[in-house]
Amino acid sequence: MSKSLEHFLDEGLANLKEKGLYNTIDVLDSANGPEITIDGKRMINLASNNYLGFATNPDLMQVCNEATDKYGVGAGAVRTINGTLKIHEELENKIAEFKGTEAAIAFQSGFNCNMGAISAVMTKEDAILSDELNHASIIDGCRLSRAKIIRVKHQDMEDLEQKAKEAVESGQYKKIMYITDGVFSMDGDIANIPEIVRIAEKYDLITYVDDAHGSGVLGKGAGTVKHFGLSDKIDFQMGTLSKAIGVVGGYVAGSQRLIDWLKSQGRPFLFSTSLTPGAAAAAKKAIELMQEDDHYVQDLWDNANYFKEKLQAIGYDIGKSETPITPVILGDELLAQKFSKKLIENGVYVKPIVFPTVPMGTGRVRNMPNAAHTKEMLDEAIAIYEKVGKELGIIK
Ligand code: PMP
Repeated sequence: MSKSLEHFLDEGLANLKEKGLYNTIDVLDSANGPEITIDGKRMINLASNNYLGFATNPDLMQVCNEATDKYGVGAGAVRTINGTLKIHEELENKIAEFKGTEAAIAFQSGFNCNMGAISAVMTKEDAILSDELNHASIIDGCRLSRAKIIRVKHQDMEDLEQKAKEAVESGQYKKIMYITDGVFSMDGDIANIPEIVRIAEKYDLITYVDDAHGSGVLGKGAGTVKHFGLSDKIDFQMGTLSKAIGVVGGYVAGSQRLIDWLKSQGRPFLFSTSLTPGAAAAAKKAIELMQEDDHYVQDLWDNANYFKEKLQAIGYDIGKSETPITPVILGDELLAQKFSKKLIENGVYVKPIVFPTVPMGTGRVRNMPNAAHTKEMLDEAIAIYEKVGKELGIIK
């Protein structure tokens, strides 16, 4: 190994360990379902983004297998050479139909979708107004575009309007975008889409909503923008196929012209092999299940409301989430870490979330109840929360 790399890694790893930022990875021996096993130990799983339980849905597994039988395990090329299979086109049409837009483009992940889509449209002559709590993939996509990045206070519409006004009046920028998560993944709050649309129309802002945590959850599954009935007012409805959809991939739904542009300029679409046929088929089927039967989304909300009420009743602070995302806020970073360790030991799998992912002093564990949990599993988790919370003096 090169001496400089050795030095970099040794120093870097020691530094990460000292700051508590070194990742130790838990390895599951089971599927990532409502219950998981790690090292043979069964636990109630409250850490996944598998909102509708689709990661292990038998119908999705079946169409995944059928598509694999038909098309093989891999797409064989990037989309613009000959890696576009009929199933990719069918998936994109299905996404557009579900989202209420003219067209859609699928990427291989939500992360590379944000990297590719933002940088395909925004340039160094432009500005991006970005909510300060936006996801890392948005931040990286904005950086890649080389546009001027202007941070907007979290969900502060006065700050957005003021900064939009200043950016327009400066005359410095050719285009200005406002970009936000549709649902914020740490607190579960919903973006104020009607107000965003009003401000965007006033200042001619391009609007980009990353709905990774709203799709499959709000608007009968079609997401945050549909929830507010404003599908034709948001330029980019971005989402993932990896959370509620249960598979892998990302997408943008929007106007035909926008999608045409992204299919020629979105670099991961041009230079990275397309989604596997099995993933594309399973993702399409997931949308069909939501369209045919609303019980998946309803089960998610029933379970989330049930779980939240019980946690609150035993004395926990669960913040002000408006969605199934359920934080248990502890404040102290070390306490959050100790609490999650104890919960795991007792059979509830949740992860601590601490600074810098959330502001200092708002350490928490984040619960993601989903449609596949049974009430018995949730009751079992609550009993463990009660026991551990009392042991650590968090609740009385
Ligand atoms: N955007 C948001 C808001 C997310 O939470 C995530 C996933 N953590 C992503 C994008 C990336 O999606 P994916 O996992 O499909 O790459």
